[in-house]
Amino acid sequence: MGGAPASLTRGLEACAYGLGFDAFGVAALGEPATRPHFDAWLEAGRHGTMAYLDGAGAELRRDARQPHPGATHAVVVAASYGGREPSGPVARYARGDDYHVVLRERVRELHRWLERELGHPIDARPYVDSGPILERDLAQRAGLGWFGKNTMLITPRAGSFVFLASLFVSLELEPSAPFEADRCGACTRCLDACPTGALPAPRVLDASRCISYLTIELRDGIPEPLRAAMGGLLYGCDICNDVCPYNRKFSKELSEDSPFRPRPFLDGVPSRELALRVLGMGVPEYT
Ligand code: SF4
Ligand code: SF4
Repeated sequence: MGGAPASLTRGLEACAYGLGFDAFGVAALGEPATRPHFDAWLEAGRHGTMAYLDGAGAELRRDARQPHPGATHAVVVAASYGGREPSGPVARYARGDDYHVVLRERVRELHRWLERELGHPIDARPYVDSGPILERDLAQRAGLGWFGKNTMLITPRAGSFVFLASLFVSLELEPSAPFEADRCGACTRCLDACPTGALPAPRVLDASRCISYLTIELRDGIPEPLRAAMGGLLYGCDICNDVCPYNRKFSKELSEDSPFRPRPFLDGVPSRELALRVLGMGVPEYT
C-alpha cells in the first residue's frame, strides 16, 4: 500500500480537534522503546496481582504490531478530563461518563472520516485503555508528550489529566516527530507526595501500592499498613498529578457540556457516605 499524503494527516488532525481531543499524533507501530523498562517492571513484580499483564499479555505488549495483525500505524489522541476541580474522594478521571465508551465513539468517528476521505474501507481498530498496548510509549512516539517521573504522559496542551486513545490502521500514514524532551528536570514533587510510596524511583510505579490498584484491581483485602495512608480515596488519587507544576500550568477547565464533568452524586461527597450510598444501590443505579 502506498503512503497517504500529508494533507490526509492534517485533515485527520483537524477532525480530531473538532471531536474534542486535545492532542493528536501518528506513530509507526513497532517494538516499544520502553520494552526493557516494562520487562524489568514485570520482573520486579510491580504489577501485583494483575496477571493479565504478564505471560501472553506481556508478549503482545512487546511489539505494537501484534495486537491487531496487519496494522502498521496508530493515530494517537488524548482528551482532557480537567484537573481544576476539587480532588477526592473519587479520582477525577472516574467521576464523569465512562471514558471507554465516550472516546471509543470519537475514535470510531476518526475511522469513518478516513474512509470517507479515501473512498474505500480501511482495516482499523480503536483502543481506549482496552488492549494489550503500552499506550504511553505510543503517545510519546506520536509526539503527544513526555513521561513524567510520576509515570504519566504529560502533554503540553493539557498536562497529564488526559485519557489516551488510539486507532490502529492498516494504512501508511506519515509519522509525527516523537516527543524527545524530558521536562521534569530535577523536580521530584510527585515522588515525594505519593501517600502510599507507590513511586519508589522516577518513572517506576509500584502498582501494588497505588490507590488505583488497591481500589480497582485488588480482589483481596487492602493490606493493613497501607490503609491509613489511602485517606479514603477511591479509583486512585490525583495527588501525583496535582503537585506537578505542569498541571498547574496546562490542565484545563472542563466545559459545561463535557461528558467528564463529575456526576452530581460524586461531587464533594465524603468517601464513607459515598460507600454507604453505593452499597445501597441496585444494579441499574450503579451502572
Ligand atoms: S495515584 Fe496516588 S497512590 Fe497512585 S502513584 Fe499517584 S499519588 Fe501515589
Ligand atoms: S511533579 Fe515534577 S517530577 Fe513529577 S511529573 Fe511533574 S515535573 Fe515531573
